[in-house]
Amino acid sequence: MARVAIVTGGTRGIGRAICEALKAEGLTVVANYAGNEEKARAFTDETGIPAYRWDVGEHEEVLEGCKRVEQEVGPIDVLVNNAGITRDGTLLKMSFQDWYDVMRINLGGCFNMAKACFPGMKDRSWGRIVNIGSINGQAGQYGQVNYAAAKSGIHGFTKALAQEGARFGVTVNAIAPGYIDTEMVAAVPEAVLEKIVARIPVGRLGHAEEIARAVAFLSSEDAGFITGSTMSVNGGQHMY
Ligand code: NDP
Repeated sequence: MARVAIVTGGTRGIGRAICEALKAEGLTVVANYAGNEEKARAFTDETGIPAYRWDVGEHEEVLEGCKRVEQEVGPIDVLVNNAGITRDGTLLKMSFQDWYDVMRINLGGCFNMAKACFPGMKDRSWGRIVNIGSINGQAGQYGQVNYAAAKSGIHGFTKALAQEGARFGVTVNAIAPGYIDTEMVAAVPEAVLEKIVARIPVGRLGHAEEIARAVAFLSSEDAGFITGSTMSVNGGQHMY
């Protein structure tokens, strides 16, 4: 039987490319989304992949949503924590709400989804968790104390949970994308974007499919000896 994968924030951007890459690998894929019904409908019509709505930042909603997926589709073997938002601003201008929303969704979402999916993976002695971090969680970024803290937290979360999952056949890894040409980056002013691209050694933004292929590998049987690692996919922008 095909393994079942769930991709949070899977209906557009990087998440959509991940859903399509995992489906192409033969997995049964389910996407989650927050509330953009139009995008979700178009996604399901075009890909044939079902989309389930819940807020990854809300613990009870996540537990209920994942239970529904397991009843309707099957036990979840692969979890891709991709859902994320930005609420940028310098510390002086950032509200507590902007801080809290980003921490709740970007980092809290990983905790909530892992709480729902990890126990079953452990019981079945096989699982893959791939968390989408960010170059800005590794290197920091002006105007993003909330986002950088949450993404940096994802990298710590990954290494800690990897230690808990290792002896149960559950690997936990992160991908740290650089700048990828999705709607999230389209929101960056053009002048700022030009400066960003000038700092990327390969001289261009990344494509969502380039992140998706890395996720597909880390989700595969072949990646069983890789756990607790962060794969940077950033065109050489940040090396360490
Ligand atoms: P997009 O803004 O294009 O898409 C975000 C997706 O997340 C949508 O499907 C959205 O659902 C969903 N989402 C947002 N909030 C929630 C929530 N509370 N609960 C469930 N789903 C939610 O993002 P990208 O594709 O650009 O980014 C994907 C991930 O990659 C994010 O974690 C981002 O931080 C990370 N990343 C992106 C980079 C980039 O350059 N684009 C660089 C580095 C990291 P809906 O459509 O319903 O709103």
